[in-house]
Amino acid sequence: MPRPIQATIHQPALRSNLARVRAAAPDAKVWAVVKANAYGHGIERAFEGLRGADGFALLDLLEAERVRALGWRGPILLLEGVFEARDLELCSRLGLWHAIHSDEQIDMLAAHKTQVPHRVFLKMNSGMNRLGFTPQRYRSAWTRLDALPQVEEISLMTHFSDADGARGIGHQVRVFLEATRDLPGERSLCNSAATLRHAGQSEVRGDWVRPGIAVYGSAPDYPENDAAHWKLQPTMTLATRILGVQQLQAGDTVGYGSSFTADGPTRVGIVACGYADGYPRHCTTGTPVLVEGVRTRLLGRVSMDMIAVDLGPVPQAGFDSEVTMWGRASNGAILSIDEVAQSAGTLGYELMCALAQRVPVVVD
Ligand code: PLP
Repeated sequence: MPRPIQATIHQPALRSNLARVRAAAPDAKVWAVVKANAYGHGIERAFEGLRGADGFALLDLLEAERVRALGWRGPILLLEGVFEARDLELCSRLGLWHAIHSDEQIDMLAAHKTQVPHRVFLKMNSGMNRLGFTPQRYRSAWTRLDALPQVEEISLMTHFSDADGARGIGHQVRVFLEATRDLPGERSLCNSAATLRHAGQSEVRGDWVRPGIAVYGSAPDYPENDAAHWKLQPTMTLATRILGVQQLQAGDTVGYGSSFTADGPTRVGIVACGYADGYPRHCTTGTPVLVEGVRTRLLGRVSMDMIAVDLGPVPQAGFDSEVTMWGRASNGAILSIDEVAQSAGTLGYELMCALAQRVPVVVD
């Protein structure tokens, strides 16, 4: 028998979250962001749930090939464009749209011999200061691209640094709108947080939104808002079982480093999940866990293959009881990945992406 740990990808939840994002950005087209192997869900597994999107956005040519291999004939966007000149060949062959964020990428395109015209998204650095042309240099980049016979269509994009937080998007929106005022082409500005929070405004919504984390059921602005607030459903459940039970007395400890000490009789379940499964080692005593769909807590340190949980709130639980590390339990109870991530000082994004290879994955 394999270890009793398993992840489940919920395609109905992906569909529902996609519909939720669409409702937040009426009339906009949706790039479902499936980079990083669909945020750890697996491109092939996520595709079924997300095929109602207008296009798929990702980083890696190999991932683009996988989407085409699934039979997708629609738009695919390389969010960072190509990394070297020879990528343009495959880009043409796969009919990809690609971001242009640097002079070097324009040089590569200018030198590319192709009969297949390219569709590009010219990226502006409107304040995040990662990739893109400054507002001052944006127009000249656009003019250079427009003069290339290799380029058929130029769309305009930028990316927000603080759509989920107090600084907001106002400044970047103003910079982008001002610098693109009389340029033709479709616009794309919004990630998940901006889509859910600001896409009611048409100039922010643009023609395309680019939600990632929201389609995977995680609240982009947690803890200010949670997934339930945005009506997003968990798309990944990490579930396992109890392997053994220990009865602690006052003063007994559990696990490496003896970081949890019982202050009275405590029934403890030993659970088949550890950091080698992708469960964060930074979680400590108090991190929420569901046992038979009932909320309880982690005790002590996370080991490579095991954790300990408090069975106090679930006296009926024992060997083989279901444990939900995040996602949806069999009784329908939900433990949000955002809450677990917060206990580890990180984000739902990281937990999804870090799901370990050794965890078997099924789809429902
Ligand atoms: N657009 C771009 C350019 C990105 O880099 C990302 C992800 O980092 C997204 C959209 C999707 O972001 P999120 O998952 O926060 O919706």
